[in-house]
Amino acid sequence: MHDDRSVTEARLKRVLDERIRPAVHPRSVPLEVGVWHAPGEPVPVTEGLAAERAPVAVGDAWGAPWGTSWFTVSGTVPADWAGSTVEAVLDLGFDDNMPGFQCEGLVYRPDGTPVKGLNPRNTWVRVAAPAAGGEQVLLHIEAASNPVVLDYHPFLPTELGDRETAGDEPQYRLARMDLAVRDETVWELVQDLEVLGELMAELSPEAPRRWEILRAVERCLDAVDLQDVGGTAAAARERLSAVLSAPAHASAHRISAVGHAHIDSAWLWPLRETVRKVARTASNMTALLEDAPEFIYAMSQAQQFAWIKEHRPEVFAKVKQAVADGRFVPVGGMWVESDTNMPGSEALARQFVHGKRFFLEEFGIETEEVWLPDSFGYSAALPQLVVQAGAKWFLTQKISWNRNNKFPHHTFWWEGLDGTRVFTHFPPIDTYNAQLSGREVAHAVRNFQEKGEATRSLAPTGWGDGGGGTTREMLARAKRLADLEGSAKVVFEKPSDFFEKAHQEYPHAPVWVGELYLELHRATLTSQARTKQGNRRSEHLLHEAELWSATAAVRAGFRYPYRTLDRLWKTVLLHQFHDILPGTSIAWVHREAADTYAAVAEELEGIIGAAQAALAGDPSAAGQVVFNAAPHARSGIAAGAAGILPPAVAVTDCTPREDGGFALDNGLLRIGVDARGLVDSAYDLVADRETIAPGRAANLLQLHQDFPNMWDAWDVDHFYRNTVTDLTDAETVEAADGAVRVVRAFGSSRVEQLLTLPPGARRLEIATEVDWHESEKFLKLAFPLDIHTDRIAAETQFGHLYRPTHTNTSWDAAKFEACQHRFVHLEEPGWGVALVNDSTYGYDVTRAADDAGTATTVRLSLLRAPRFPDPRTDQGVHRFRCALVPGAAIGDAVREGHHLNLPERRLPGDAEVAPLVSVDQDAVVVTAVKLADDGSGDVVVRLHEAHGGRVRARLTAGFPVASATRCDLLERPAAEIDTDGPHLPLSLRPFEITTLRLSRGTG
Ligand SMILES: [Zn+2]
Repeated sequence: MHDDRSVTEARLKRVLDERIRPAVHPRSVPLEVGVWHAPGEPVPVTEGLAAERAPVAVGDAWGAPWGTSWFTVSGTVPADWAGSTVEAVLDLGFDDNMPGFQCEGLVYRPDGTPVKGLNPRNTWVRVAAPAAGGEQVLLHIEAASNPVVLDYHPFLPTELGDRETAGDEPQYRLARMDLAVRDETVWELVQDLEVLGELMAELSPEAPRRWEILRAVERCLDAVDLQDVGGTAAAARERLSAVLSAPAHASAHRISAVGHAHIDSAWLWPLRETVRKVARTASNMTALLEDAPEFIYAMSQAQQFAWIKEHRPEVFAKVKQAVADGRFVPVGGMWVESDTNMPGSEALARQFVHGKRFFLEEFGIETEEVWLPDSFGYSAALPQLVVQAGAKWFLTQKISWNRNNKFPHHTFWWEGLDGTRVFTHFPPIDTYNAQLSGREVAHAVRNFQEKGEATRSLAPTGWGDGGGGTTREMLARAKRLADLEGSAKVVFEKPSDFFEKAHQEYPHAPVWVGELYLELHRATLTSQARTKQGNRRSEHLLHEAELWSATAAVRAGFRYPYRTLDRLWKTVLLHQFHDILPGTSIAWVHREAADTYAAVAEELEGIIGAAQAALAGDPSAAGQVVFNAAPHARSGIAAGAAGILPPAVAVTDCTPREDGGFALDNGLLRIGVDARGLVDSAYDLVADRETIAPGRAANLLQLHQDFPNMWDAWDVDHFYRNTVTDLTDAETVEAADGAVRVVRAFGSSRVEQLLTLPPGARRLEIATEVDWHESEKFLKLAFPLDIHTDRIAAETQFGHLYRPTHTNTSWDAAKFEACQHRFVHLEEPGWGVALVNDSTYGYDVTRAADDAGTATTVRLSLLRAPRFPDPRTDQGVHRFRCALVPGAAIGDAVREGHHLNLPERRLPGDAEVAPLVSVDQDAVVVTAVKLADDGSGDVVVRLHEAHGGRVRARLTAGFPVASATRCDLLERPAAEIDTDGPHLPLSLRPFEITTLRLSRGTG
């Protein structure tokens, strides 16, 4: 017997493709088209509208990479179309197989008001409904010929990723520029058949419901006259009405669809193009909101709203109205959807401060949900930050990309580093670009791990990255799936409505403790080293600029640079976007980022210099100051600790060894450097023990082949470790000013290192300069340590977390490359070692056993050389500093990490500056001292417990305090604190963050 199902499915597909879908636009006439190709970068709208057009025809090639072409289309609605719905169908040459990532357009009326975007699956512009006939049509299109960087042969090196190398070959061919009649009934029939056909395909062959749908579809297709689809569509729809009106089962899963477009703030296009991408999609979405009263759209990233406001005020006006109507919903509460592994403590806090504040000031909305569908793993510091920013919910999607282990929950309490819990949802639909297809909806139901306990999930619905967002077809699906037998129930809802209901039905959801480690994209901790260094340096300069400015403002009446700091913070926060800081954007983005970070550093150094000059009493001294200790060594950072240990001896001896190596000795440590330039001993003279594993050597550069199976800039695959070259050949190993200088050549690259043991310090400093010209290689710096431990502490925001040094379980094994900020720390009870760095993030840790026991090798990830999307990633000169700190307790690791990243600064003439605030306990670390953002002049101090224990401490202000309040991250007062003159008592739980606002008194 024949298979009814496959025959009917094949029939349905052919009739839809060849007869019914083409009949949606049964009649059309060509529009007249003119074009002006803007030379160079995008021009203002008024200039684009006014420029003179040249004739162009459908089929003509257009659009150099990254160019902008202004098209004008004109025509007249035929008189005999009166009564019909008429649309312009404008296909710029889209590849329908890719919803985004290619050319795009924004349609304007002659007066410059935006109409909507043009995207691969969204090519229509309504002209009249119904038409009177004879209407004149005149529309302008600002079309961006963004090249397809990620093509069908993904991950091949391409020169298209930078305007400077992309050439000028046209990228597209105009495909259709028509006026057309739209037959609404035929379009509705298409939606009916798609929804039922897709549902049928997901139902079990035994299910009666499947056969009911099958027979109804057959009867419907029988009713379609293939020569007169429009004339028979209504009758054909009739035959589906019974199966479409059968209600969903009582136990049906509930999907809250949220209109969305995931728009990367830069990625395979430069920042300036995102400004336009966002405007196009927002135009589409405000237009769709006007058409469809049931639709709800959510947009994240305050930066993207700010771009629309600044660059497309007419679009912003519509957005603002739709937000006021409660249907265009700002979500996320962050400045951008940032990476969350690498941003420093204060920067991750400021993502929330600036994001939430924008939404509050612009729309009066307190965003309650954190929206991070696509970042590459989630820091254990986030729950506390989410709650302290005044948010309640957390949403992510990316953990579905895990390659090793399936994450066990979809709705759960996520417990962070300090014990704070946040209610979290991880949509089982496994995409943040849902289209509500039958397959997607059925997958969400099957996949949902909370079945039996909970009934709800969320589906971010719409095309991102230039796809134009949610489509009217998706809304049509949702309408049919609202209450349909055999399907989950789908309704468009605000994320906060979803979360309220999900929380209510599942208050005792399971708990996940610690980071949400993404088992993929581990190389994002290393790719594009310059971008990472720019970020690290900027974060610390911002800290210093706020501290010095606040100190000078309180002491010397210095004008606190509120607006400049606000702007510079936002610039740094933008560059923490999850394709910039991770190093996964095109060359153009990273080339610009390097320039931007240089400019940020220059401005911040200027602010610091000016504040210091004010403190020194000589405004003209700005720029001449020499830097050291005050005030942050005693106020801003590990308060109370100006140095490491009292120096035992004030000199370091550097003596030659018989083997051609050198010994460095400062009375605290004795460092052995062998003739290969490797550290074969780091003897702790105080503790009387060796740091380096027996028979091994540290400061060993190791080079691996690094060619991942996919996602070159993103991924390092575990097999990279199978081949390794130890770089032990040295051209030079020599004493240089009491330090040891090592020079090596390898491949096409060179490296020079300086190993220094500062007098009185328990740290070996290693400065490494690499002139890097390798391809598809991974460079590591290895430290085999004589430590037996099953865990390693790695600094994250506002604390540190522990990861295993073994691979017992698949979850442990998957963490073969992980993130640290300024230090990692390993210890046996009573004695530990820290490894601190000034600008790298990736590390790995392994165990090796020999007769002497197990040793632990920690390696810093220095450089990679992937060729996609930037074909010349990381070529050129890089400088890294790190230090090995034998005998370090966790507090020493914290302090040395700060020390390396915040070199002390000194006022001219060594003038003393008393600290603005100080704390009497080492465990309390101050991450920010600044004036309050509200301009009140209050001093704001953010601090946290940094050792992982409980602490009582006393903060002392170096100025009269009228009153003190505890605040949230946004500096909004929460509770008054009793003060004792300038002293404040503090009591902190492990890793607890506290923000204090100190009102200044007189006298
Ligand atoms: Zn993304």
